[in-house]
Amino acid sequence: MVSCKNQPQEEPKPAETEADRNTEAREDSLKMAEALATQAQFANKVYAIFETEPSVSQDGDDAADDPCIYLSPNDSSKSLIIGTNKKAGLEVYDMMGKRLQHIKCGLVNNVDLRHGFDFKGKKGALVGASNRSKNSISFFFVDYQSNTVSDEIYSIACGVDEVYGFAMHKSLASGRFYAIVNGKNGMVEQYEVSMVNGKMINSKVNTFKVNSQPEGMAADDETATLYIGVEEEAIFKASLMPANDGKLLMLNQSDSTNKNIEHDIEGLALFKHKGKKYLIASSQGNFSYAIFEIGKNERHVTNFVIAENSIDGVEETDGLDISTFTYSGKYPNGIFVVQDGFNYDGGTAKTQNFKIIPMDSVVKFIK
Ligand code: CA
Ligand code: CA
Ligand code: CA
Ligand code: CA
Ligand code: CA
Repeated sequence: MVSCKNQPQEEPKPAETEADRNTEAREDSLKMAEALATQAQFANKVYAIFETEPSVSQDGDDAADDPCIYLSPNDSSKSLIIGTNKKAGLEVYDMMGKRLQHIKCGLVNNVDLRHGFDFKGKKGALVGASNRSKNSISFFFVDYQSNTVSDEIYSIACGVDEVYGFAMHKSLASGRFYAIVNGKNGMVEQYEVSMVNGKMINSKVNTFKVNSQPEGMAADDETATLYIGVEEEAIFKASLMPANDGKLLMLNQSDSTNKNIEHDIEGLALFKHKGKKYLIASSQGNFSYAIFEIGKNERHVTNFVIAENSIDGVEETDGLDISTFTYSGKYPNGIFVVQDGFNYDGGTAKTQNFKIIPMDSVVKFIK
C-alpha cells in the first residue's frame, strides 16, 4: 500500500483474542438493551413512511452515515435524498427510497448542500462532503434541469487532522457559499467557495477549536451561526462571519444536565415552524431525538423516538436532515430523513439505510 502524508495512520493494536471479542459483544448487547429500554420510555413516537434501499456494503458493516435532502425547484417529484456510504461513496435515492445513483468518490462521511449556485452556465445546488480518502472536501453539483448528482467537480485539501463532520452555509446577507469541516481532534475550518472565470476557488475564512471529538454540524444561514455537536459534551454555537472571534457558546440544556440527552450527540438539523426556529439533534445513547427552540428563547422542547410499524423503528442515528418544503403537496411541514443504525426487514438484519418521516408528526410535539 502506498502511504500518503494526509492519510489517517492506523495505530497498531494488540491482537484481539476471542475472549476480548466475546466481552465486547456482551458489552455492546448490554448497551443496546439499555438504550432500547430507555427508548421505549419516550411517549412521543413517530413512524417512518418510507425507507431507502439498504446501503451497498461488502461485509454488512456500518455503511450509511449522513443524508441531505435536495428539493428540486422545478418538479418536487424529482427531489432526492443524497446519503453518504462510509465504505463506498454517495448513494442517491428518490423520496420513496429507490436508489437512483451510486457515485464512487472515496470514503465520504458527512454531506450537505446549498441552493442557487452557478456552475458553468447552469444553476443548481452545490453539494459538499467530507472525504476521508483524501482528507478533503469533495464537491458535486445538481443542476436544476437534470436533477442528477454530478461526479466530483472540485475538492479542497483540508488542514484538520482527520476530516469528519461537515456542513454547508450560504450567507443570506452576502449570497456567498461556505463549506465547514471538522476533524477528530476538534479543529473546525470554514472555507469560502466561489467561481472565478469559470473555475472554482476557495479561501479559508475561519478556524476554531472544540475540546473533544465533534461531528454533526448545521448552519443557520439567516444569523450566520454554526451549531456543532461535540459528541460527548454538548451542542455549541459559533459565528460564521468571516474572521470571527472563534468564541464558542453552549446551547442551553444540550449537555448531560438534561436527562433527555444521552451521548453521543450526532446529527443536527434546523427547521422553522410557525415563525420560530428549532434544532433537532440525534441523542445516540438513548435512540431518540431532542428538539430545541433556538434564537431568543433558547430551550429544550422535548424528545421523541421513531418506533416500529410497517417499517422497522430507528436506532443509534448518526446523520439526519430536514427539509420543510411541501413535497407534491403531501407533507405540509416537510420531510425528516435519518440514518438507521440497525435496519431490519421482518426479522432479517439488512445493511444500514435511511428512514423518511413526515415532519407533520414531529411538529405536533412542539408546545
Ligand atoms: Ca448532512
Ligand atoms: Ca460519530
Ligand atoms: Ca431499525
Ligand atoms: Ca457519523
Ligand atoms: Ca427495514
